[in-house]
Amino acid sequence: MTGTTTENQQPGRPRRAARLRIAVLACTVPALCVAGWYGRQALADGHGARPAAVAPSVGEPSDGTRSLPPSTDDASGSPSSADAGGSPSAGSGGPAGSGPLAGRTVLLDPGHNTGNAAHTTEINRPVDIGNARKECDTTGTSTNAGYSEAEYTLDVVHRAREILRARGANVVLTQDGDRPWGPCIDERARIGNTAKADAAVSVHADGAPGSAHGFHVIMPGKVVAGAADTSGIVDPSQRLGVLLRDTFKAGTGEPYATYIGKDGLDTRTDLGGLNLSRVPKVFIECGNMRNAEDAGRMTDPQWRQKAAQAVADALTAYLTAGH
Ligand code: ZN
Repeated sequence: MTGTTTENQQPGRPRRAARLRIAVLACTVPALCVAGWYGRQALADGHGARPAAVAPSVGEPSDGTRSLPPSTDDASGSPSSADAGGSPSAGSGGPAGSGPLAGRTVLLDPGHNTGNAAHTTEINRPVDIGNARKECDTTGTSTNAGYSEAEYTLDVVHRAREILRARGANVVLTQDGDRPWGPCIDERARIGNTAKADAAVSVHADGAPGSAHGFHVIMPGKVVAGAADTSGIVDPSQRLGVLLRDTFKAGTGEPYATYIGKDGLDTRTDLGGLNLSRVPKVFIECGNMRNAEDAGRMTDPQWRQKAAQAVADALTAYLTAGH
């Protein structure tokens, strides 16, 4: 195990504060202005208030998806063409090595995979998450009209990748619609570790009862068991989580979850993607796909762009605050 509090410090890097000042002075791009603001806030207040302690929950059946009865975490509907607003273009970004995130590596993890439903044997295989064994992956949820969580997560990640690349980041994805299923949750964590990502965000949407709505960010609790050791990432992940909670609320207008967590934040110790991560990492459940209002937002490409912007801005603020 190598998870220590120094693991994510990178003494060889130039000071981030200097880059931040440059970014703020050159603030002609609204997104960077937002990032600069959040970065300044983070610098000014020691990365914001720690979230209220939230007791880790147990017994959740799948990563990032609360399967409240009746289970809504099955991709029962076939993927639809709700994505009619167009996908972001592949590839993008400014010149390599320039921008406020030059030299930084970000892991984006689009939850689930549209192919998972056709590979139940593979995704049901248990994997070790340190303190338990859990399914390799799950199908994820969908809106009542059949727009799948996996479609949603990959679209938002593509949009966020474009923004982050434009700011100079090296962006690594756990899957890019380029594999028939998965990867498993343990591999999703390993990909970030192997990439030595400076920060990671796993994008999800929830499948709670239809009366529930809102978003929440999930942060890792302390787990030291088997292959899991989150002791080095709990604190930085909390800082990233609070930033993401704030950018997402401000950028999308989505309210905090009404059915879980507190003030849009939750802490869990049962998610393999967090337990096995050695790099600061959070999940975001962007809304409840089974709620009509949330589903309306998530099927709107313009709203997804706002969601992606919020993810990118939180990562930018985190990374330009000296992490
Ligand atoms: Zn999910």
